[in-house]
Amino acid sequence: MSRTDYVLANALLPDGSKGNIAIGEGRIADIGDVANGEARRIDLGGALVLPGFTDGHMHLDKTLIGRKWLPYQAGPTRWSRIETEKTTEKRLNLPVEERAATLIEICVAFGTSHMRTHIDVDTDIRLTRLESMLRARERYRDRVDIQIVAFPQSGVVSRPGTLDVLDEAIRAGADLVGGMDPLVVDHDAVGQLDGIFDVAERHGVGIDIHLHEPGEAGIHSIERICERAESHGMQGKVTVSHGFSLAMVSERKSDETAERMARAGVSLVTHGAGGFYLPPILRLRAAGVEVFAGNDDIRDTWSPYGSGDMLERAMLIGWRADFRRDEDLMAVFDMVTAAAARVRGDSPWGLAPGAPADLCVVDAQCVPEAVVAHPPRKLVLKNGRIVARDGAYLKAIEDPAG
Ligand SMILES: [Zn+2]
Repeated sequence: MSRTDYVLANALLPDGSKGNIAIGEGRIADIGDVANGEARRIDLGGALVLPGFTDGHMHLDKTLIGRKWLPYQAGPTRWSRIETEKTTEKRLNLPVEERAATLIEICVAFGTSHMRTHIDVDTDIRLTRLESMLRARERYRDRVDIQIVAFPQSGVVSRPGTLDVLDEAIRAGADLVGGMDPLVVDHDAVGQLDGIFDVAERHGVGIDIHLHEPGEAGIHSIERICERAESHGMQGKVTVSHGFSLAMVSERKSDETAERMARAGVSLVTHGAGGFYLPPILRLRAAGVEVFAGNDDIRDTWSPYGSGDMLERAMLIGWRADFRRDEDLMAVFDMVTAAAARVRGDSPWGLAPGAPADLCVVDAQCVPEAVVAHPPRKLVLKNGRIVARDGAYLKAIEDPAG
């Protein structure tokens, strides 16, 4: 049996059982009828212990949270938002590392233990934002695990030289290659997809593509992504972000596409926000597609909304999808926790012996109630150490193991 440094006693577990959780060397040593022995004991008073959350789609380089309120200024189109962002960025000239830091601390206090953030790269800004983000990741490495996607928001084929920038970004420390609406932005789906898959395969990394393309065009892009995931041997390493088209075609077409995605090991991440089509979450899951969730834009030039709280995001997605039954609320909870861990390939993970002790404690009777109420976080642990308490981020990490 592994060493026990301390025990979280009197815990309510996600499966409804009560027990203790022994923590040793930053990991869960044992769960259930665990004796305290000589180890230090933290009494949770029957509070619910959840695994740490994953924010599977963010833009840490864009957020303006914690700064002067900036009214939304863009028009209704995506191009207007891209242009507005560029002019606003030039005018504000805010350091990316500090913007990311503010939001990371907020998310950690909400119990987020893992993030996947897209960071803009292009032939003008090159790796400047990525380098700032790499510094922020290093600064918070003890508090949260961050995957970085090099994100060519302005296009790939339509901006010659972008593939070289993506290549440099991966060499500099980005974890995944991004993409953006290959048909609509580049008018060359084959060119963009071949290009980004080549970069990813060369470096042995995954891909996460923003896909807002509507209807049949979007489905066509998803099919091409699935083909390449298979031909490049990248099953399980490719994610489609948004995939609104899955909700814009017939149920039959959508189901066929879901089966295609499952076969190719292509996952979907959704933020479920209003104003967009919501992919059929339960049908995708039933087909075997891993569906996880993210906040996407949080208080930036793209959106005035978002808090950073993944439990609240789970509630919003569930509400939007009209999930009422406990089993459906459990599905949306899976999207902010286990599904993302499966996509990362983390094992063991969660409330399991051997898993990193990334935990979050709330006052709730069960997981479905935690989703709908998204109550304050009493305690947040990262690798067995306390990083937030009573909703507040701790500047100095506390180690109950002493
Ligand atoms: Zn995004």
